[in-house]
Parts: sequence; structure tokens; C-alpha cells
Amino acid sequence: MIFNIFKSLVPIFLILFLALYGYQQNFSTAYPVINSLMYLPAILAVFIASLALHFNRSSIFFIIVLLMSVNLLLNFDFVATNMHYALLAGFSPLLLLVFTITPERSLFSFRAVPLYVLVLSVVGFSIWTVFEKPDWVSLYLLKDWFPARYFDWTHFPQTVIFIAIFVMFSLLLISLIKPSPLKATSIGILVLLIIVLQLKTNTYSLNIFISSALLMCLYAIVQESWRMAYLDELTELPGRRALKEKFQSISGLYTVAMLDVDHFKKFNDTYGHDTGDTVLRMIASKMNKVGGGGFCYRYGGEEFTVVFPGKGVSDAEIHLENLRKSIADMPFVVNRQSRRKDSNKSTKKQKIVQVTVSIGYVDSSTKNKNAWGLLKLADLALYRAKKKGRNRLAC
Ligand code: GH3
Ligand code: MG
Ligand code: MG
Repeated sequence: MIFNIFKSLVPIFLILFLALYGYQQNFSTAYPVINSLMYLPAILAVFIASLALHFNRSSIFFIIVLLMSVNLLLNFDFVATNMHYALLAGFSPLLLLVFTITPERSLFSFRAVPLYVLVLSVVGFSIWTVFEKPDWVSLYLLKDWFPARYFDWTHFPQTVIFIAIFVMFSLLLISLIKPSPLKATSIGILVLLIIVLQLKTNTYSLNIFISSALLMCLYAIVQESWRMAYLDELTELPGRRALKEKFQSISGLYTVAMLDVDHFKKFNDTYGHDTGDTVLRMIASKMNKVGGGGFCYRYGGEEFTVVFPGKGVSDAEIHLENLRKSIADMPFVVNRQSRRKDSNKSTKKQKIVQVTVSIGYVDSSTKNKNAWGLLKLADLALYRAKKKGRNRLAC
């Protein structure tokens, strides 16, 4: 889990590092280079926003709009007073958090309306505050909640600091629960926003930081597209395309196993398709823990494939047997809808059921076949396991 978060954060840290390096070069950079960087954020924003639109990534699209708004406001000196600054530094992390946690939706659908309403409300409220200067807003936004001497290292109002800390913790927490490239990107962008607003940078540095934030958005789009192409949506195991790539690169001794859930049609008919989906997810989580360096894939439907590079059947068998046993031993709680005779109220009864799988496997040493040929043989072995009574292995 921690490894997954770290993995998605590495490219973000690299971009962050490059941004800081670029910022350091600020004073030694020649003017022609500085001038050419002027249009970089706009070019990147148009390019990456079109990709986001194409892939229907509404979160990234809104984040790009946010970044370009910050860029515009700072570049054209719209942020003149403490209040302007507090509004920008307070609202941008909050909007970033909202855009990150809102489920993806088509930008041109009714489901996107709440986001548009939110953005327009924030813009409307900020403009109203700038012109009307209501006392209560200044009171809450610029107030010193704690002694000012603890905060003399920054010109952020204390409320803004608390907002930034709240957003950072929220992003870290949701990344911990379910890591994703988008969440890693948002963490990187929040750091960049804080740097930009804390340093009150010049145009050159602003261009560097905003361009880096936009590159993080590009990373999120590319990485999420990769996930969509290679990972099965239901189980999050690699899918058929990933298996095809594995088969293209594998050689020497290896074992291929086919795994199929027993009587799954009956299970679906009895407990419903949704409960069936939960079973497939449970099986995938068990498969993820398979030993022996096995790579697991969802072949399709309720069938899965395991590949053990460098292992013959005698070595792979123990790991497949452990997998079969771990699935069979896991009590699966299902809700059964039942109607009591004496009342019309329906009650949910809980029942523990056993889910089992059969596995057929074969290795590359005995048969002169390519990987797909071995897969067919593993399928035949699976058929034998079913015939012998299911919940077992066959070679
Ligand atoms: P056997 O023990 O011989 O494998 O019997 P079976 O019922 O598992 O085999 P069969 O091939 O007849 O049925 C497979 C069932 O798997 C049919 C289908 O409804 C179910 N299934 C396939 N994909 C999914 C899925 O993504 N979700 C759910 N819930 N069910 C699925
Ligand atoms: Mg099947
Ligand atoms: Mg089956």
C-alpha cells in the first residue's frame, strides 16, 4: 500500500525537483529563454486541457482552469491587497481538494452542473468581497487565531495556513486509503501552489511553477489512461492486454495456470450479480497475495490467469494450492432478502457461504508450445479439475 503511494508520487517529486531547480536558475537565465517561457503555460494548458476533454477527465480539466486562473491573477497583478491574496490562497487549495475528490463526470452533462455552480459561486463571492469589503469576511479570513509571532515566517494569514494544512492532510489521507495518479498529482500541485503564493514570485518563476503543475496534470492523464487500458475495472487486476504483453516477453521455464470460480452462475442467480462482483473482487485480493512471484490477470468473466516466470509445475503447485485454500477458507457473508410471513416488512438475513475455485496448470518444459498454446492446455487441465469435483488443482 505504502509502496503504491510512493510509486505514484515519484514522478510528481521529480517534476517538483525540476521546478525548484528551474526556479534556482532564475537569475542566471538569459532573457531570450525567459521570454520564450512566457507562453509555455498557455501552450501546455491548451494541449493538456484538450487531452482532458478527449479522455473525459473532468477533475484534471477543472484543475487546469484553476491553475491558469491563479497564473492570470498573479501575472497581471490582480492580487493587490491582503484580502485579495487571502481569498486566492484560501480558495485555491479548497477547490483543488473538491476537484480531486469529485467523481469523474462528463463536462457537458447535468451531473457537472454542481461543479460549475460551485466555481461560479466562489468567483462571485470573491468579486463581491473585493468590492464590498464586508467586515465579517475580513474578520474570519485575516484574523490572528494564535499569537502573530509564531507566524512571522510567512505572509499567509493564519486561516489560509489552516486551510492548506487541512487540504494537505485530506489529500494524504485519501491517497493512503486509495492511491491514484490524480491524488498524487493534487499533492504535488498543492505544494507548488503554496510555493507560488508564499514566494510571491516574478513572472519567470511563476511560469516555471505553473508549467510544472501542468506537467503533473499530463502525468495524471497518461497514467490514468494506462490504468484504464491495462487494469480491469472491477477487480483492478491487470487485464487481457497486460497478459498479452507478458506472453510476448516470457521465455524459458514458466508455469501458466487458469483459475475458474465454481458454480458461479448459480451463485449469481441466488445472491445477485452485485454480490457476485464482490466475490470476484475478493478473489482478486487473494490472488494479489499469491506467492512464488506469480503474476495474476483477469482473463475474462470469472476466469483468471496466473503466470509464474522461472517456475515449473512442481514449484508453482504449492502456491496455487495455497491460493485455492485461502479462497475456500474465506467465509463470505451474503445478505439474503427474506420476507417474514407475519408482516410485510422485508428483513435482511445474513448467511455465510463458501466460494471455491478450480485451477488447471501446466509448465513450458513438457510441451513444445508457445504461451497461448500452454494457456489452452491449462484450460484443458482446468476442465479436468472441474470434472473431478471442483475446488481442486489439476495438472
Ligand atoms: P463451473 O463451475 O463449471 O465453472 O460453473 P459456472 O456456473 O461458474 O460456469 P459458467 O461458465 O456456466 O458461468 C459463468 C458465470 O460467470 C456466468 C456469468 O453470469 C458469471 N460472470 C461472468 N463475469 C461476471 C462478472 O463480471 N460479474 C458477475 N457477477 N458474474 C460474472
Ligand atoms: Mg468459466
Ligand atoms: Mg465457473
